[in-house]
Amino acid sequence: MKSNKQRRQEIRQKRERRKAWKAERARQPDSRLAPPGSFPVNCSALAPYHSYGDPLFVRPGWYEDQDFTCHDCGAEQTWTAAQQKWWYEDCQGQVYSTAIRCRTCRLNKRIRDGRAPAASGQLAKQQK
Ligand SMILES: [Zn+2]
Repeated sequence: MKSNKQRRQEIRQKRERRKAWKAERARQPDSRLAPPGSFPVNCSALAPYHSYGDPLFVRPGWYEDQDFTCHDCGAEQTWTAAQQKWWYEDCQGQVYSTAIRCRTCRLNKRIRDGRAPAASGQLAKQQK
């Protein structure tokens, strides 16, 4: 498992790469380059949505890392392009949903709601 320090460094490096890419794109506004670390959107794999407007991520044609702040603990998090593709296409997640909680808070909420996966559910029972 990676330490927080390593993880932070990875995030910082990724931000630097994205910043460089954004500067590059600003110089050539017409170019439609997919950013590094992005994944193409496969529209036919998305969960059905009954709306005339396409979800925001469909228009550029790729998933891009999104920074967000966890609603519960306020930690700065990144919802990566790979996670978005997995959520929207493999899990058939609602196309208008986005990540709002960090991994830890998500698990805590699942335990609170009684929807914890088997292993952590047992863990929670043992702790009581
Ligand atoms: Zn959190």
